[in-house]
Amino acid sequence: MEYTDSPEPEPDADEVLVYIKAAALNRVDKWVRDGWPGLKLDLPHILGSDGAGVVAGVGPGVATFQPGDRVVINTNFGCGTCEFCVAGQDNLCANWHLFGETINGTNAELVAVPERQLLRLPADFPFDQAAAAALVFQTAWHSLITRGQLRAGETVLILGAGGGVNTAAIQIAKFAGCLVYVVGSDEKKLALAQSLGADVLIDRSKEDWGKKVYQLSHKRGVDVVVDNVGAATMMTSLRAARKGGRILTVGNTAGPKFELDNRYLFGKHRSLIGSTMSTRADFAAVMGLVFAGKLRPVIDTTFPLTDVRAAHARMDNGEHFGKIVLHV
Ligand SMILES: [Zn+2]
Repeated sequence: MEYTDSPEPEPDADEVLVYIKAAALNRVDKWVRDGWPGLKLDLPHILGSDGAGVVAGVGPGVATFQPGDRVVINTNFGCGTCEFCVAGQDNLCANWHLFGETINGTNAELVAVPERQLLRLPADFPFDQAAAAALVFQTAWHSLITRGQLRAGETVLILGAGGGVNTAAIQIAKFAGCLVYVVGSDEKKLALAQSLGADVLIDRSKEDWGKKVYQLSHKRGVDVVVDNVGAATMMTSLRAARKGGRILTVGNTAGPKFELDNRYLFGKHRSLIGSTMSTRADFAAVMGLVFAGKLRPVIDTTFPLTDVRAAHARMDNGEHFGKIVLHV
């Protein structure tokens, strides 16, 4: 990665030129950096999915924003015209993109963004918090609330305490009125999970978390498991869910493949539910709660954009709790 000069983007008719103030890192940045079979990028490539800033200019077709407006970017990028986008389900778009993944992203001073990808920020809402919230809160909200149909009074088990999606998921599950178990491997991260509302903490470095959930739930299992790890954990997650329970996944931090014993799926009436990103309505709903202070993005550290390498090194080491933010 290099910090260098790049041509200024020219906004198309329906695009807004945003002067980025803050950009948050996500795991996808590392995946893009490492590359994967089938990923073809025009180099040099600009990373970054999350960003917030000030409108610097608008294309002639833009009606709802003008220079000086404070905005946050919805990185979940639909074409706007296919059957799914017309229904507001941009995350199902046939021509779906994520900023910074297959197209240039937010780690820059100026980015051109389609008008429909922007949400206005309240007057004094901080740019770094908006950037830190956008991707992970919509991901967790859509998974738990829309796909997972979480209901008050349910028990939710969340695997992992430190990542951005999990810190969002803990708060959303509490907001929904659930009892929240968190499995972690680090006392400090578990304590921070507790500060976000987690009710029951399980340290997997000290005890068998599958057995512990079984005991704590009086051999019933939990209603919902949030497992974004995958390979190493999915079979235990399946068994930690009650009969008829749901297992939600929005990622595979331990690799893309795992094996399941199907008896524990069909025989126990369990559902394994995948999702990624969110609908437009879910993005607006969850960001409204963030703006109102009901949900709080957790910021681990901030770095100037010039120190992007140090920021990535911190993410690679996995020591962070919550989001790493770049100030531009
Ligand atoms: Zn579409």
